[in-house]
Amino acid sequence: MTGDIVKPGAVLGVLGGGQLGAMFASAARRMGYHVAVWDPDASAPAHRLATHSFSQPFTDQATLDSFSRLASVATYEWENVPVTLCERLEARTPLRPSSAILKIIQDRLVQKNYLSAQGFPVPAYAPVLSPSGLQDAVGQIGAPAICKTCTAGYDGKGQWKILQLTDVSAIEPALRKMDREGVSWIVENMIPFERELSILIARDSHGQSVRYPVAQNEHVDGILRTTIVPADIPPAIASRAADLATEVIDRLNGVGMFCIELFQMANGELLINEIAPRPHNSGHYTLEACTVSQFEQQVRALCNLPLGEVRLLSVAAMVNLIGQDVTSTTTSNGCVAVMTIPGAVLHLYGKQEVRPQRKMGHVTILADDAETVRKRVHRLYDVLSSQSVR
Ligand code: ATP
Ligand code: MG
Repeated sequence: MTGDIVKPGAVLGVLGGGQLGAMFASAARRMGYHVAVWDPDASAPAHRLATHSFSQPFTDQATLDSFSRLASVATYEWENVPVTLCERLEARTPLRPSSAILKIIQDRLVQKNYLSAQGFPVPAYAPVLSPSGLQDAVGQIGAPAICKTCTAGYDGKGQWKILQLTDVSAIEPALRKMDREGVSWIVENMIPFERELSILIARDSHGQSVRYPVAQNEHVDGILRTTIVPADIPPAIASRAADLATEVIDRLNGVGMFCIELFQMANGELLINEIAPRPHNSGHYTLEACTVSQFEQQVRALCNLPLGEVRLLSVAAMVNLIGQDVTSTTTSNGCVAVMTIPGAVLHLYGKQEVRPQRKMGHVTILADDAETVRKRVHRLYDVLSSQSVR
């Protein structure tokens, strides 16, 4: 393989300390590594699993010195960490995926330009250079459309639906307010998809990759609610999705763990929504339902170790606990009710502040078949709504 193996005992660095960083740290520690976590939020979940914890601002030079000295290799747990920091870190410590890939993925417009220039299918889109340009941009691609901030969006934040051209005037003031903060936007056709799918792919520095089964995702208000694996799709669509994901990550020459989010149309056509250069919320089921989880693959790819065989051990679902859902699962009754669901495994991220639309935890549910998984998911929804204090 290209590059040396980073052996257990070494320190792995991760920028960002959210739940993805925490699950990465947990996998790394199980495999005998130490973990250095850098997140300016001292209460971020991954700090609790860190051997070395840094909560200085990402601009702090002394922290960059210490972090890069400690870490044999580094990664990031989400795409909104500063590219400039990644470039400076990469000058001293191998970073996987590279800062060049982060630079393409971090900005939705740059990412879409890249994908379409490479001939990959994406929804029709147009840049919005200023708030007053929104009208023209929507005019170019047609309504209904979605306007999104180019950077820093996640969980559907920084997005506005434009059902008809006349909606534009209601959105412009919000854009104008942000414009002073130097934000830019993109508008995309609102896609009347049949299903949302995602596919996890890990790729090593040798160019070998492994792909997980295609997952089916259900979003509510722009935020992922439920993932079901395997997706209820014909095998031909699943294999095209897997091939598409492989082509995209090969073209990027990506090393690490990735996820491709897709829109599947009624005629079977696939459009790429976005690429995540890291483990993905829709891949949390891999912790319980696969021999090698997405977080272990991230460690393996980072350390130049052979990627793990992907073996799905069970049909699975994952339900996110969003905002006040967490309150429902931490009352005695709620906690017992969740744990009484056969095959259910509870994950709480330990975030101190409960905010609406904030991912606070998730529940993985395993069963022998898709129908039983669905029934158990509905049982969980019932628990969440009956315990809800919203
Ligand atoms: P996340 O971080 O959860 O992946 P995000 O904030 O990066 O989300 P997107 O993935 O672009 O944002 O959008 C969130 C959800 O909004 C999508 O999963 C989908 O349900 C819906 N959505 C986004 N873009 C479109 C589109 N062009 N057409 C139809 N629905 C869309
Ligand atoms: Mg998304």
